[in-house]
Amino acid sequence: MEVTDETIVLEADKEQGKEYVPLKSKTPIELIKEAGIVGLGGAGFPTYAKFSKPFETGGNVIINAAECEPILSHNIRRIEEKPEQLLRGLEIAMEIANAKSGYIAIKEYHSKAIEAITKINDNPNIKITTLEDIYPMGEERAVIREVLGKLLPVTALPLEAEAIVINAETACRIQEAVELKKPLIDKDMTVAGKLNGCDEEAKILTFLDVPLGKRVEDVFQMAGGLSGDYGELIMGGPFTGKRTSLESPVIKTTGGLIASECFFKGPEKIGLLVCACGADKTRMEQLAQSLGSEVVGVEYCKQAIEVKEARKCENPGRCPGQVAKVMNLKKAGAQALLISNCTDCSNTVMSCAPQLKLPVYHCTDQALRSVNHKLIRKIK
Ligand code: SF4
Repeated sequence: MEVTDETIVLEADKEQGKEYVPLKSKTPIELIKEAGIVGLGGAGFPTYAKFSKPFETGGNVIINAAECEPILSHNIRRIEEKPEQLLRGLEIAMEIANAKSGYIAIKEYHSKAIEAITKINDNPNIKITTLEDIYPMGEERAVIREVLGKLLPVTALPLEAEAIVINAETACRIQEAVELKKPLIDKDMTVAGKLNGCDEEAKILTFLDVPLGKRVEDVFQMAGGLSGDYGELIMGGPFTGKRTSLESPVIKTTGGLIASECFFKGPEKIGLLVCACGADKTRMEQLAQSLGSEVVGVEYCKQAIEVKEARKCENPGRCPGQVAKVMNLKKAGAQALLISNCTDCSNTVMSCAPQLKLPVYHCTDQALRSVNHKLIRKIK
């Protein structure tokens, strides 16, 4: 693909007084590298590295538009407002990767975004795949499973399924880097929770193009400021986000900022059931401490396999059964459970823990309560 020498400065950037030095590289892949684009869905892996080896035949580029974490909604807003940018980003990515097919994986209920893409997509090699509304449909191997029908082992890379998966915002930033010569200086994000000036229905706000480096406190100010006491400030989504502070900066992987509901007093002794796709053990211990509970046992979902000092799920979102793990925690002396399981596994926990007189807390509870979102428990 030919890269022109023309430099286009976006009207919105001019209006906001954003200044940057236009990128100088001459090829799309070099522009992506020079722009500093990384996986903006939270992974942070350098994007150019995913495209280092073009496909010889076939090949698929998949846009992960699952926006799987509850509350987060900035990717969907960008797609609804700029579907042409997403499609262009995907076409550029397909060209760089020499991929025959492009897919946009998106949850079925985002009908407005799906319609916006469908209306303007005239590329017969780009298709939409709809996803079920459960967590974690946005996990990379889950996306490949749903789109291509191949379940990769935990140690495999997407390339083994002839796939490259990129987040929706990442695709849009590729378009900006290649066609506008714009470096990655902004981040889209969702700000939610205990905010001033929001009525009960509107505690979730989305912002496009927040400058990287902006202080968390200033971003909350953009959303009306914090309202009264809160439990914790979370950077990221309710499942996988981490605790942050008002002084922290927005970074490339910041997707959400949530001021959660205050913690209440938990049980004296609590057992942790840890998921590979939700809050990890360290984060769960932090939450247990905030509940004022002593951790008496830690169990991992049996599909949470250890890979290079982290955990990966063998088959994300498809529950293998949790009864044995729940019983182990009961035997360890737990009076209640704190779980970080996916939707399907939380459902399974709820089918046995109450019968053992174990109340269940979920790592997402206080974030979800702060926006009146239904809690992750039993699927009705
Ligand atoms: S099956 Fe287990 S490890 Fe996998 S997503 Fe569900 S709870 Fe997490």
